[in-house]
Amino acid sequence: MYADVILPLPLSGSFTYSIPANMEKSIRRGMRVTVPFGSKKYYTAIIIKIHRQKPGNFVIKDIHSLLDSIPVVIEHQLELWEWISFYYLSSQGDVCKAALPPPMLPEDLQIGYIPKSEEWFRINPALKDTEISTAVERAPKQQVLLDEIIWFFTENEKDNISRKEVKELNGYSPAILSSLIKKEILFPFTIERSRLHRETTSNHPPYPLSEEQQKALDTVQHSFSDKHTVLLHGATSSGKTEIYIHLIDQLLQEGKQVLYLLPEIALTTELTHRLQAVFDDKIGIYHSGIDDQERTEIWLKMLSDKPYEIILGVRSSLFLPFRRLGLVIVDEEHETSYKQQDPSPRYHARDTAIMLAHLSGAKTLLGSATPSIESYYNAQTGKYDLVTLNERFGGVEAPLVRLQNTKDLRRRKKMKSLLAPVLMDEINAALENGEQAILLRNRRGFAPMIECAECAWTPKCDHCDVTLTYHKKVNSLVCHYCNTTYPLPTECPSCHAGELKTLGTGTERLEEEVAQLFPGVTVGRMDSDTTRGKDSFERIINDFQENRIRILVGTQMISKGLDFGNVRVVGIIAADSMLNYPDFRSHERGFQLMIQAAGRAGRRDTQGMVIIQTADPAQPIYRFITRNDYDGFYQSQIVERKLFKYPPYTRLISIVLKHKDEQKVEYAANAFSQLLKKSLGDRVLGPNKPVVSRIQQQYIREILLKIDHAISPSHVRQIIKSAESHFRENSKFKQILVYYNVDWV
Ligand code: ADP
Ligand code: ZN
Ligand code: ZN
Repeated sequence: MYADVILPLPLSGSFTYSIPANMEKSIRRGMRVTVPFGSKKYYTAIIIKIHRQKPGNFVIKDIHSLLDSIPVVIEHQLELWEWISFYYLSSQGDVCKAALPPPMLPEDLQIGYIPKSEEWFRINPALKDTEISTAVERAPKQQVLLDEIIWFFTENEKDNISRKEVKELNGYSPAILSSLIKKEILFPFTIERSRLHRETTSNHPPYPLSEEQQKALDTVQHSFSDKHTVLLHGATSSGKTEIYIHLIDQLLQEGKQVLYLLPEIALTTELTHRLQAVFDDKIGIYHSGIDDQERTEIWLKMLSDKPYEIILGVRSSLFLPFRRLGLVIVDEEHETSYKQQDPSPRYHARDTAIMLAHLSGAKTLLGSATPSIESYYNAQTGKYDLVTLNERFGGVEAPLVRLQNTKDLRRRKKMKSLLAPVLMDEINAALENGEQAILLRNRRGFAPMIECAECAWTPKCDHCDVTLTYHKKVNSLVCHYCNTTYPLPTECPSCHAGELKTLGTGTERLEEEVAQLFPGVTVGRMDSDTTRGKDSFERIINDFQENRIRILVGTQMISKGLDFGNVRVVGIIAADSMLNYPDFRSHERGFQLMIQAAGRAGRRDTQGMVIIQTADPAQPIYRFITRNDYDGFYQSQIVERKLFKYPPYTRLISIVLKHKDEQKVEYAANAFSQLLKKSLGDRVLGPNKPVVSRIQQQYIREILLKIDHAISPSHVRQIIKSAESHFRENSKFKQILVYYNVDWV
């Protein structure tokens, strides 16, 4: 018999090995094996197919060892892997590697050095205590060892023991241990599962919903009777999370599991507390901040007979094994961090979640105050159902949004600082009242640019085609693409004469200036520079929530779904800069960012105030923002998307080519593009030189495919793959790195 396996390597396709006779009975799809691969190495691989078809013409190697007694990757996970690799044009190996926690997939094992898979034992959970004592009643030696093992568990607060540890116990002998295993009192397994224990917190049932919320919940439930996916469009603070909690509660009562996806780790703490208060230890938390061993334990617990009923996590948590999945919630569904950028597989977690739900017979609930244009379009055209929740919870008024024309204020010499006079007044009023303020500036560092006053020289990164940002605290220039740091030159390296001036404002300068404007007031800053350390994000949030920080300055991080109770004013500085990216989504992003930031303002008793500083207040987008008019904004965007053939009317596939030699990559990109044009014609755009055309010494060219829905994903895939293999036939292109980003965002 033969087995096809996936190796966790960026290689397309699967590999066939023969199954040694002694494994034939126990081997199954979804189990792990170690196999020899290459001349000297062993890898852990996943079985995807068992068959009797001898592959022709080459030597078939044997599987070396079988690591599992049950499949660790279950059926619909394997189907999901296949879909991801098909749809996102990535290898199955890449998907496998992204899916499994690294300890479950030891790679690159040298011959000789294969670790004898360490064995652990636990007590068969299906046995009652009385059954266990009966089973060893007439075997005093087994009884002694078993008692020792149980004593070990209590002493160490564990429910498993390694072979090494058993050997040290009194009364151990290999024969006694194997009788306990044979009697199925002890279960062996190959990866440690330490008991995950957590203090039980005080529980409360879900809060009763308001009439509005109840209506929304009823509509969601009703929609699920004929739709797989529902979009909940609810204003910021309308109480979407409470609706999720009620839905989860209901699913748990039906014996189903729930996956709750969040766009990023930063949001998990607050939500974990809220969910734990209701669901206690039924929740597993899964994100990049937890270590590999814990990920492995969560995975194994999900396979056990007592899995977590709720998983709260970021995008990678959709790879966990759910046996009874009933619902996937995708919170803040519009967030771009749901799209994996690097490395492959470049999957979109929202869309993959919908596929996962489909494969598991579950439903998907997308939630946002500012839905992505794609999802709203799907809801408008009947693919999803739409449920709307307009009111903020508890009758809190939506904030008042005002524009301040900075160009005009400057001309009239009214801009005495980075803040418009009205914003200054509002902040002062808030401070006097014991309230707080948030200032959004979506650019970190002190100054986005440095320039010589004499010859206009500006510093650039040696490895990337970008100008460097000045960071004052570390007195250095930093490349925001590759993070290389350079000392600040003492004189202009070009003319040796001019003075170096800083241009523009980043969060660091804003913080400094605001601290000077409001002496004696604690100003905090939240951006990726101040939140690098462990727990630093939480510390800043905490200080702000407890009013130790009165004014919080930050990048888009401050707009992310956090619930603050005492913020009277939100100021948005240099709003235009959020709209001027050369990207068809820049207005969508800007709208989302400003509405989300605005949503942080408002208290129960006073109306919140949002001040947007712009040099161009006539831009139509500001009218939609000041009126909080999502529908109007959507209509304006969808017309453009249709006109210029952008999503949701097309699928975008970006093809990136990289090489150290600019001429080579240019030539290669032209050749690849020609090959694609043969079948796809003017759906192929480029190759283009991207805005940042060199990153980390690699020159970049980009080809963009705009695929209308008349062409199926499988057809496009076929065209791309055949173009790539023609392309690879030319030996000159061997060293060119090519990768795909499907549904590029
Ligand atoms: P959203 O997820 O839409 O931003 P939240 O669910 O976070 O809104 O609700 C906003 C605030 O109102 C939170 O502080 C939340 O605790 C509170 N809240 C919402 N619904 C209820 C409810 N039914 N009972 C009590 N408090 C609620
Ligand atoms: Zn760089
Ligand atoms: Zn100069």
